[in-house]
Amino acid sequence: MKLTVLADNNTYIDKYYLGEPALSYYIEDEGERILFDCGYSDVFLRNAERMNINLSQVTMVVLSHGHDDHTAGLPHLLSVLPYARLVAHSETLAEKQYLDGRNAGSPLREADIPYELSLSREPQKVSEHITFLGEIPQMNDFEPRVQFGVHEVDGVFEPDFVMEDSALVYDAGDSIFIITGCSHAGICNIAEYARTLFKKPVKGIIGGFHLKQVNERVEKTIEYLDSLGLEELYPCHCTSFAVRSAIHQKIPVGEVGVGMQIEW
Ligand SMILES: [Zn+2]
Ligand SMILES: [Zn+2]
Repeated sequence: MKLTVLADNNTYIDKYYLGEPALSYYIEDEGERILFDCGYSDVFLRNAERMNINLSQVTMVVLSHGHDDHTAGLPHLLSVLPYARLVAHSETLAEKQYLDGRNAGSPLREADIPYELSLSREPQKVSEHITFLGEIPQMNDFEPRVQFGVHEVDGVFEPDFVMEDSALVYDAGDSIFIITGCSHAGICNIAEYARTLFKKPVKGIIGGFHLKQVNERVEKTIEYLDSLGLEELYPCHCTSFAVRSAIHQKIPVGEVGVGMQIEW
């Protein structure tokens, strides 16, 4: 599996790509070309062009969850990729609003996307070695779901606990590698669910952890991550410097930036 960071909050000093507070990864696994999230604007497209990655060749689009920093690039994607399969949780494309009424979700609804939509709460295979986890169950007592504004359910706005938030798992044979969007479901819930599902050790993680202040939850998260015996750990996007620094004191973390590549 080869993963390339197309959009992230961070850029490297010597790589002249565009950054934005959003996330988009391009992943190749055997013949499958996967786009995992599409950022907040056309930044992922412009960066891909500079990297000579042709997104019109993408066969599979996966959305980690519905927030606009992962889905607002969709209209731009449609302009270069008229057809693909799209895998996500069934609530991902619902309308979402912050409590002040601003849009917080995808600019496009299901009917606006001319792709083969595969929306489900269940795990779904997206390539030979990569699986979309679907809805993440509660696996511990320190990562409760937190409300983020409201979302539309059957025509009514209800509190949004971002239950659609999910992740990808790459099965390397003897171990697994996890790729997350924002980890609203809790990075430990995600890792533990993947470990239970695949019955293999988690050896690498990349993605947003949605952790800002160093508090008890972060301490328990570090304790859990440390117990996994990770070989590579890349907390990024919505993981604050304070939290990355706290993790780094126990487990070495890699710095993620646009243009970074991981081969696993
Ligand atoms: Zn989010
Ligand atoms: Zn995000």
